[in-house]
Amino acid sequence: MMAGRKPGLIALFDVDGTLTAPRKVATPNILDFMRKLRKVVTVGVVGGSDLVKISEQLGKTVIDDYDYAFSENGLVAHKDGKLIGIQVLLTELEVISWRRKTQVLENGTVRKNGVVIQEFINFALHYIADLDIPIKRGTFIEFRSGMLNVSPIGRNCSQEERDEFEKYDKVHNIRAKMVSVLREKFGHLNLTFSIGGQISFDVFPQGWDKTYCLRYLDDFHEIHFFGDKTYKGGNDYEIYESERTVGHTVTSPEDTIEQCTALFLA
Ligand SMILES: [Mg+2]
Repeated sequence: MMAGRKPGLIALFDVDGTLTAPRKVATPNILDFMRKLRKVVTVGVVGGSDLVKISEQLGKTVIDDYDYAFSENGLVAHKDGKLIGIQVLLTELEVISWRRKTQVLENGTVRKNGVVIQEFINFALHYIADLDIPIKRGTFIEFRSGMLNVSPIGRNCSQEERDEFEKYDKVHNIRAKMVSVLREKFGHLNLTFSIGGQISFDVFPQGWDKTYCLRYLDDFHEIHFFGDKTYKGGNDYEIYESERTVGHTVTSPEDTIEQCTALFLA
């Protein structure tokens, strides 16, 4: 604990869109600011990506540059440069065990595990196949450690196509509409849908959103969270809305600097 910092208070930051431009590397300006801020308050980052990706964006020394560094929403947790927690990553097949192993239907049919996730994937791929959007590429559904990542345009698209899709999505709400259909259809699975980044959304068991990292912050009674996707369905929504945090919506790294200056450095 550095001297002079307000005890019990932490400033916690989303990564993409909050400390960096979407998918970009942090500028020297924001890194400099975070160093300054760390002198007066405890600071942490929480990103949905894995530590490799977060290190690419915030620098190789990220786990030392922040008091807390949470990757994969806190499934992997570092404090003062040391690993303090890791959620054993689900294998591709174990993702299925979000649900019970077998399910007996009303007509007596027994469904084995795998069927539910298969249903989800089949439905999502059909939905994407029927979508009328200007560009489709490949890798529409990606299995990750604790989640599925679904992209209507497909993750194989170029950066230029990503930018185009993001603009198109802002007008036509492709992701938001798809999420609301999936939520309706698979509501019984207790899944969380989270729109983040430019081209996709994540699907994971309830509770595996960014609030997951709060379990490591019991020592703090004042947790300020800063994120860019704090609206319902955005990947900052749950932690922003959490009773345990004071939520702040930011629009860019520059806005983050401005709001933090007013709050902590004025
Ligand atoms: Mg973000």
